[in-house]
Amino acid sequence: MEYKLIRSKRKTLSLQIDKNAQLLVRAPLRLSVKKIEEFISEKQNWIGKKQEFTKQKITPKSNYQAGDLFLFLGENYPLKLVKIGNPLTLYDNFFQLNTQYEPAQAFHWFYKKEFAKIALPRLEYYSQKYDLKFNKVRFKAQKTRWGSCSAKNNINLNYLLMMSPMSIIDTIIAHELAHIRHKNHGKNFYKLLQEMLPNYKKADYSLGQNQLRAVFIS
Ligand SMILES: [Zn+2]
Repeated sequence: MEYKLIRSKRKTLSLQIDKNAQLLVRAPLRLSVKKIEEFISEKQNWIGKKQEFTKQKITPKSNYQAGDLFLFLGENYPLKLVKIGNPLTLYDNFFQLNTQYEPAQAFHWFYKKEFAKIALPRLEYYSQKYDLKFNKVRFKAQKTRWGSCSAKNNINLNYLLMMSPMSIIDTIIAHELAHIRHKNHGKNFYKLLQEMLPNYKKADYSLGQNQLRAVFIS
Protein backbone atom coordinates (compact mmCIF):
# COMPACT_ATOMS: atom_id res chain seq x y z
CA MET A 1 0.00 0.00 0.00
CA GLU A 2 1.35 3.41 -0.96
CA TYR A 3 1.51 6.16 1.61
CA LYS A 4 3.15 9.46 2.41
CA LEU A 5 5.08 9.50 5.66
CA ILE A 6 5.31 12.68 7.70
CA ARG A 7 7.54 12.40 10.73
CA SER A 8 7.42 14.92 13.52
CA LYS A 9 7.87 15.32 17.27
CA ARG A 10 4.69 13.52 18.18
CA LYS A 11 3.92 10.54 20.36
CA THR A 12 1.33 8.65 18.38
CA LEU A 13 0.66 7.39 14.87
CA SER A 14 -2.18 8.80 12.87
CA LEU A 15 -3.67 8.04 9.48
CA GLN A 16 -5.46 10.42 7.20
CA ILE A 17 -6.92 10.18 3.71
CA ASP A 18 -6.40 13.43 1.86
CA LYS A 19 -8.72 14.86 -0.76
CA ASN A 20 -6.89 13.00 -3.53
CA ALA A 21 -7.55 9.73 -1.70
CA GLN A 22 -3.88 9.43 -0.77
CA LEU A 23 -2.91 7.93 2.58
CA LEU A 24 -0.96 10.26 4.89
CA VAL A 25 0.79 8.73 7.88
CA ARG A 26 1.97 10.95 10.71
CA ALA A 27 4.52 9.25 12.90
CA PRO A 28 6.93 9.97 15.74
CA LEU A 29 10.52 10.71 14.66
CA ARG A 30 12.05 7.38 15.71
CA LEU A 31 9.28 4.85 15.13
CA SER A 32 10.45 2.01 12.84
CA VAL A 33 9.00 1.56 9.37
CA LYS A 34 8.08 -1.99 10.36
CA LYS A 35 5.90 -0.73 13.22
CA ILE A 36 4.35 1.87 10.96
CA GLU A 37 3.49 -0.67 8.29
CA GLU A 38 2.06 -3.06 10.85
CA PHE A 39 -0.24 -0.30 11.99
CA ILE A 40 -1.28 0.43 8.39
CA SER A 41 -2.08 -3.20 7.71
CA GLU A 42 -4.25 -3.37 10.85
CA LYS A 43 -6.25 -0.42 9.56
CA GLN A 44 -6.50 -1.67 6.01
CA ASN A 45 -10.28 -2.01 6.01
CA TRP A 46 -10.83 1.50 7.26
CA ILE A 47 -8.30 2.89 4.77
CA GLY A 48 -9.88 1.07 1.85
CA LYS A 49 -13.37 2.29 2.70
CA LYS A 50 -12.27 5.89 3.18
CA GLN A 51 -10.31 5.89 -0.08
CA GLU A 52 -13.23 4.40 -1.95
CA PHE A 53 -15.58 7.16 -0.84
CA THR A 54 -13.04 9.90 -1.42
CA LYS A 55 -12.41 8.65 -4.94
CA GLN A 56 -16.10 8.80 -5.70
CA LYS A 57 -16.10 12.40 -4.59
CA ILE A 58 -13.29 13.42 -6.90
CA THR A 59 -14.61 11.63 -9.97
CA PRO A 60 -15.45 14.37 -12.45
CA LYS A 61 -18.88 14.42 -14.02
CA SER A 62 -18.97 11.90 -16.77
CA ASN A 63 -19.17 12.62 -20.46
CA TYR A 64 -20.39 9.05 -20.91
CA GLN A 65 -17.33 7.77 -22.71
CA ALA A 66 -16.57 4.06 -23.04
CA GLY A 67 -14.78 2.89 -19.91
CA ASP A 68 -16.20 5.60 -17.60
CA LEU A 69 -17.22 4.15 -14.27
CA PHE A 70 -20.76 4.19 -12.90
CA LEU A 71 -22.03 3.03 -9.55
CA PHE A 72 -24.58 0.38 -8.74
CA LEU A 73 -25.06 -0.88 -5.16
CA GLY A 74 -21.76 0.67 -4.16
CA GLU A 75 -19.72 -0.98 -6.92
CA ASN A 76 -18.24 0.71 -9.97
CA TYR A 77 -18.90 -0.69 -13.45
CA PRO A 78 -17.31 0.53 -16.70
CA LEU A 79 -19.47 1.77 -19.52
CA LYS A 80 -19.73 0.04 -22.88
CA LEU A 81 -21.37 1.86 -25.81
CA VAL A 82 -23.66 0.19 -28.34
CA LYS A 83 -26.35 1.28 -30.78
CA ILE A 84 -29.11 -1.21 -30.04
CA GLY A 85 -31.33 -2.47 -27.26
CA ASN A 86 -32.54 -0.98 -24.00
CA PRO A 87 -31.37 2.50 -23.06
CA LEU A 88 -29.14 0.99 -20.38
CA THR A 89 -28.44 -2.55 -19.19
CA LEU A 90 -26.23 -3.76 -16.37
CA TYR A 91 -24.40 -6.99 -17.16
CA ASP A 92 -22.19 -8.94 -14.77
CA ASN A 93 -19.29 -6.53 -15.00
CA PHE A 94 -20.25 -3.60 -17.22
CA PHE A 95 -22.99 -1.14 -18.07
CA GLN A 96 -24.17 -1.13 -21.67
CA LEU A 97 -25.52 2.17 -22.95
CA ASN A 98 -27.47 2.50 -26.17
CA THR A 99 -26.11 5.79 -27.52
CA GLN A 100 -29.35 6.49 -29.37
CA TYR A 101 -30.72 7.57 -25.99
CA GLU A 102 -29.73 10.62 -23.99
CA PRO A 103 -27.19 9.14 -21.53
CA ALA A 104 -28.18 10.95 -18.32
CA GLN A 105 -31.83 10.11 -18.99
CA ALA A 106 -30.92 6.49 -19.61
CA PHE A 107 -29.19 6.34 -16.21
CA HIS A 108 -32.11 7.97 -14.45
CA TRP A 109 -34.54 5.55 -16.12
CA PHE A 110 -32.38 2.61 -15.11
CA TYR A 111 -31.73 3.66 -11.52
CA LYS A 112 -35.41 4.43 -10.93
CA LYS A 113 -36.59 1.10 -12.33
CA GLU A 114 -34.00 -0.91 -10.39
CA PHE A 115 -34.52 1.04 -7.20
CA ALA A 116 -38.24 0.26 -7.16
CA LYS A 117 -37.41 -3.46 -7.38
CA ILE A 118 -35.02 -3.27 -4.46
CA ALA A 119 -36.67 -0.68 -2.21
CA LEU A 120 -40.28 -1.86 -2.20
CA PRO A 121 -39.57 -5.24 -0.56
CA ARG A 122 -37.32 -3.54 2.04
CA LEU A 123 -40.04 -0.98 2.82
CA GLU A 124 -42.62 -3.76 3.22
CA TYR A 125 -40.29 -5.77 5.39
CA TYR A 126 -39.53 -2.98 7.89
CA SER A 127 -43.08 -1.64 7.74
CA GLN A 128 -44.62 -4.99 8.72
CA LYS A 129 -42.00 -6.04 11.20
CA TYR A 130 -42.18 -2.77 13.18
CA ASP A 131 -45.81 -1.92 12.45
CA LEU A 132 -44.99 1.35 10.70
CA LYS A 133 -47.71 1.94 8.13
CA PHE A 134 -46.84 4.33 5.36
CA ASN A 135 -49.33 5.94 3.04
CA LYS A 136 -47.80 6.48 -0.41
CA VAL A 137 -44.26 6.01 -1.54
CA ARG A 138 -42.65 7.93 -4.36
CA PHE A 139 -39.24 7.53 -5.97
CA LYS A 140 -37.66 10.68 -7.33
CA ALA A 141 -34.22 12.14 -7.94
CA GLN A 142 -33.29 14.90 -5.54
CA LYS A 143 -30.07 16.81 -5.22
CA THR A 144 -30.08 17.39 -1.51
CA ARG A 145 -31.75 14.51 0.28
CA TRP A 146 -32.01 10.78 0.20
CA GLY A 147 -35.47 10.59 1.63
CA SER A 148 -38.28 12.22 3.56
CA CYS A 149 -41.47 11.33 5.42
CA SER A 150 -44.36 13.80 5.41
CA ALA A 151 -46.88 14.58 8.14
CA LYS A 152 -49.30 12.30 6.27
CA ASN A 153 -46.74 9.48 6.25
CA ASN A 154 -46.02 9.73 2.57
CA ILE A 155 -42.48 8.57 1.96
CA ASN A 156 -40.19 9.95 -0.72
CA LEU A 157 -37.03 8.08 -1.57
CA ASN A 158 -34.29 9.28 -3.84
CA TYR A 159 -33.80 6.58 -6.46
CA LEU A 160 -30.19 7.68 -6.95
CA LEU A 161 -29.66 5.66 -3.77
CA MET A 162 -29.33 2.83 -6.26
CA MET A 163 -25.66 3.86 -6.46
CA SER A 164 -25.12 3.25 -2.73
CA PRO A 165 -24.34 0.01 -0.94
CA MET A 166 -27.35 -1.93 0.38
CA SER A 167 -26.46 -1.03 3.98
CA ILE A 168 -26.99 2.67 3.18
CA ILE A 169 -30.23 1.98 1.32
CA ASP A 170 -31.54 0.07 4.35
CA THR A 171 -30.41 2.85 6.68
CA ILE A 172 -32.32 5.49 4.74
CA ILE A 173 -35.45 3.35 4.37
CA ALA A 174 -35.50 2.51 8.09
CA HIS A 175 -34.82 6.17 8.94
CA GLU A 176 -37.81 7.43 6.98
CA LEU A 177 -40.09 4.68 8.28
CA ALA A 178 -39.07 5.44 11.87
CA HIS A 179 -40.43 8.96 11.27
CA ILE A 180 -43.92 7.44 10.99
CA ARG A 181 -43.81 6.95 14.75
CA HIS A 182 -41.48 9.79 15.72
CA LYS A 183 -41.61 13.01 13.69
CA ASN A 184 -38.29 14.27 15.02
CA HIS A 185 -34.75 13.11 15.67
CA GLY A 186 -35.21 12.68 19.41
CA LYS A 187 -34.02 9.92 21.71
CA ASN A 188 -36.98 7.64 20.98
CA PHE A 189 -36.48 8.01 17.26
CA TYR A 190 -32.90 6.76 17.52
CA LYS A 191 -33.96 4.01 19.92
CA LEU A 192 -36.39 2.66 17.35
CA LEU A 193 -33.83 2.99 14.58
CA GLN A 194 -31.32 1.06 16.67
CA GLU A 195 -33.90 -1.73 17.03
CA MET A 196 -34.55 -1.78 13.30
CA LEU A 197 -30.86 -1.69 12.39
CA PRO A 198 -28.79 -3.28 15.14
CA ASN A 199 -25.58 -2.25 13.39
CA TYR A 200 -26.79 1.30 12.83
CA LYS A 201 -24.43 4.17 13.40
CA LYS A 202 -25.39 7.79 12.98
CA ALA A 203 -22.30 8.03 10.82
CA ASP A 204 -23.86 5.75 8.21
CA TYR A 205 -26.60 8.26 7.60
CA SER A 206 -24.26 11.21 7.16
CA LEU A 207 -22.00 9.03 5.04
CA GLY A 208 -25.06 8.51 2.86
CA GLN A 209 -25.73 12.22 2.76
CA ASN A 210 -22.15 13.02 1.75
CA GLN A 211 -22.22 10.39 -0.88
CA LEU A 212 -25.35 11.95 -2.33
CA ARG A 213 -23.45 15.14 -3.04
CA ALA A 214 -20.71 13.09 -4.61
CA VAL A 215 -22.67 10.87 -6.92
CA PHE A 216 -25.47 13.06 -8.19
CA ILE A 217 -25.58 12.93 -11.95
CA SER A 218 -27.34 15.53 -14.04
ZN1 LIG B 1 -34.95 12.26 9.62
